[in-house]
Amino acid sequence: MKKWMYIVLIAIIMVIAIIIGIYLFKNEDTPKTENRNVLSTNQTLNLIDEEEQENTILNEISVSSNETEKISPNAVLILKKQYEECAHTIKEYARIPEEYVNLTKEELEEKQSDWEVETFSPNEVILIKEASGVCNQHYVLRQKDGVIAIYQIGKDNSETLKEETSISVEYLTQTDKLRLEEGIRIYGEEELNSTLEDYE
Ligand SMILES: [Zn+2]
Repeated sequence: MKKWMYIVLIAIIMVIAIIIGIYLFKNEDTPKTENRNVLSTNQTLNLIDEEEQENTILNEISVSSNETEKISPNAVLILKKQYEECAHTIKEYARIPEEYVNLTKEELEEKQSDWEVETFSPNEVILIKEASGVCNQHYVLRQKDGVIAIYQIGKDNSETLKEETSISVEYLTQTDKLRLEEGIRIYGEEELNSTLEDYE
């Protein structure tokens, strides 16, 4: 035989082999993947069922326990004040007052007229209320007697001297002096400290 006939023969054999291969592969594989799909769908269904069951169980527990849950003597009391003007929320942490110990959520709500119960659990009670004006985290820096002074901004934009620093205004740049003249407004202790550090 001639060389090209060998090549054609080999090529034909390879094509047939590939076709048989694909056919066998498909026959073997198709039912398996179907089975797997069926299995996984069943499994997800089971999972969803379990989740639903857990949720209903959890709901039942929380419903039944809410009625009997009482404030523990070691509970933490968190007082949240939402300030109307600046929209900041200030948190205060406190030990639970003695008169609150052993109260249920309903009893606590009855006792509290101006605070709303936001979160209730035996170990943590969060009370929240709206407050007027700005929170106590607003400051303004001004020049006073040649040094930078910190003023606290209160209701109606009133300013109360909080502290006179030892930072002399004398060596500040003209821009900083002008800014101090207008008053540098600051929010929060962190910004206050970092701003003062910049001027030191
Ligand atoms: Zn504020």
